[in-house]
Amino acid sequence: MSDRTPQPKKHYRMLDIAEDTSQEEVARQYQRLLKLYQPENIGDADARAYAAQKLAQIEDAYAILGDPARRAIYDGKPLVVAADDQDTLFCANHPNTETLLRCNKCGKPICIKCAVQTPVGYRCTECIHQQQNVYFNAQGSDNFIALGVGFVVSAIAAPIVGLLLSGFGFFGLIIAFVAGSGAGSLLAQIIRRGVGRRRGRRLPLFALIGIISGVFVGSIGLFLFTGFFLLFDITTLLFTGLAIAAAYPQLR
Ligand SMILES: [Zn+2]
Ligand SMILES: [Zn+2]
Repeated sequence: MSDRTPQPKKHYRMLDIAEDTSQEEVARQYQRLLKLYQPENIGDADARAYAAQKLAQIEDAYAILGDPARRAIYDGKPLVVAADDQDTLFCANHPNTETLLRCNKCGKPICIKCAVQTPVGYRCTECIHQQQNVYFNAQGSDNFIALGVGFVVSAIAAPIVGLLLSGFGFFGLIIAFVAGSGAGSLLAQIIRRGVGRRRGRRLPLFALIGIISGVFVGSIGLFLFTGFFLLFDITTLLFTGLAIAAAYPQLR
């Protein structure tokens, strides 16, 4: 019998540990890596995306290696079940409900009603909330700051950009096509800076409402002064459309 096991030992590499690492040390290493890749303090968007991806792989690996029974299966070792693991589990929230599930983050027994399925396995609602709170760190006022900044910048920029571009005729259309996304990215950066680079579930939506109503109000203002209505101008519409398409994903 060969002692080569069929599974690649990818999970050990993800946690950067040797295969004979003790269960306690696996848990300690997991906590260390969690802190290291926590996205909340990473300013750069690319680095944050990398950290989030890395965290998902670490969670994946720990879901297996953090659980002695699953780790034994992964290692291809005979499964030795401790006597107390065979006891019936009861849901932590519903003490009368028997269950076979545990939250794979905190280990708490949970019934199927309390379990939330995630890409890395079943989690209790408390752990899900904790995870989301780490990711979405916006404060209550941030939504309105995003809306306000989007509104003010768009209300000022729309008439200026619209007048300039339409003055160039067909050439303006080409400028709009080339510069629209860039302007949108710039606007997204201004809004993100305005909210201290925090992320919120509804923040992109609020920013979008601010931008669109800003363009609208700016256009009406320009119309009142000059009689020129931007929203009927194809160049302005193209520019605005491209700018919003570029800004929105960057605000998430
Ligand atoms: Zn949990
Ligand atoms: Zn339950």
